Amino acid sequence: PRRIFSGIQPTGVPHLGNYLGALRSWLELQQADAAASAPEHAAAGAAASGPAGSTHVFFSIVGLHALTVPQAGKQLRRERRAMLRCLLAIGIDPARCTLFHQEQVPEHAELAWILNCLTSVGKLNRMTTWKGKLATLRGTDAAAGEPEMEQMNLGLYAYPVLQAADILLYRATHVPVGEDQLQHLELARDIAHGFNRQYKTSLFPAPAHIITPTKRVLSLRDPAQKMSKSAPDASSRLLLTDSPAEVRYKLKRAVTDSERELVYDPAERPGVSNLLLMLSSLRGTTPEHEVAALNAAGGGAGRLKEATTEAVVEALQPIQAALRRLDDDPGYVDEVERSGRERARAEARRTMAAVRQLVGFG
Ligand code: ATP
Ligand code: MG
Repeated sequence: PRRIFSGIQPTGVPHLGNYLGALRSWLELQQADAAASAPEHAAAGAAASGPAGSTHVFFSIVGLHALTVPQAGKQLRRERRAMLRCLLAIGIDPARCTLFHQEQVPEHAELAWILNCLTSVGKLNRMTTWKGKLATLRGTDAAAGEPEMEQMNLGLYAYPVLQAADILLYRATHVPVGEDQLQHLELARDIAHGFNRQYKTSLFPAPAHIITPTKRVLSLRDPAQKMSKSAPDASSRLLLTDSPAEVRYKLKRAVTDSERELVYDPAERPGVSNLLLMLSSLRGTTPEHEVAALNAAGGGAGRLKEATTEAVVEALQPIQAALRRLDDDPGYVDEVERSGRERARAEARRTMAAVRQLVGFG
């Protein structure tokens, strides 16, 4: 049977990159039952094929990961709750998946420790994500050379191992994440293999990546970076909660170029291509299709920004309406939290009982 795990950090309102690169595929995956009969869901269904109804989907708000960058307790409490409401608002259905807060399941930290002891520092040195985060935190350019490691907290360094624990705790077979996380998934496979070999077991399946068509959405202010919740410049990202005026303002200021003829060329024209990617992903078309239509109408970045604004505003409208409905029903959100925690813990306890037995703690 398929077991799917994915997570998102409670480090702010999700942005369009999170939505197109990860969350939208979560929606399709929780419809796994429908996938068998509905051909339009074939992409997600085929990536993780199996008989309908045999899929167990786990979606986690990963609070332990949020602590790898400085956090105020009060703020984090708010963000955790806000993230849960956002996930419900985009259509994550707790009746179809196990939706839970990572830190409410202590087995994540326990398994992470055991996996730490099976992971070499050399492997973690090769991960590129902490380098980017460290540079962002310091406000320095990631390209300016290797950041100084001495001051980095150990959690940020080791968080790929915690991520492996998140995945392996549910014995996940498939993991839908954005392109920025592929290296970590590779590490999780390595660690699963290493554990199985060391303890002569087949407890952990090797988790496979589920491809999302929109792999990587870029920052509106600096198309050399990915769009990110934690980047200091708030106008670099479009949030699911942005008003139409905010969407228009941010897209107006988005870095593009002044050539009249639009071309989809992510390497040479990253700003323009990023908007084309967003536009076509939201409309369910291709960048090439949108380029042709826009050029036929006269081309230019201004026209592209107008079209993108319209598509984003239209996509956000039902999500924001759902958020307002949830605001009126805090009891429902409490209940989602409680039942998610119970279901996740039951699964986590089962895996940890086997792990404890194998390592000699049983
Ligand atoms: P942070 O800056 O705090 O790390 P983030 O924007 O990177 O936030 P995460 O919570 O780390 O978001 O990641 C949630 C999911 O969104 C992951 O699957 C990740 O691969 C995906 N994702 C993040 N940023 C992008 C992006 N710009 N384009 C596509 N997918 C993305
Ligand atoms: Mg991230």
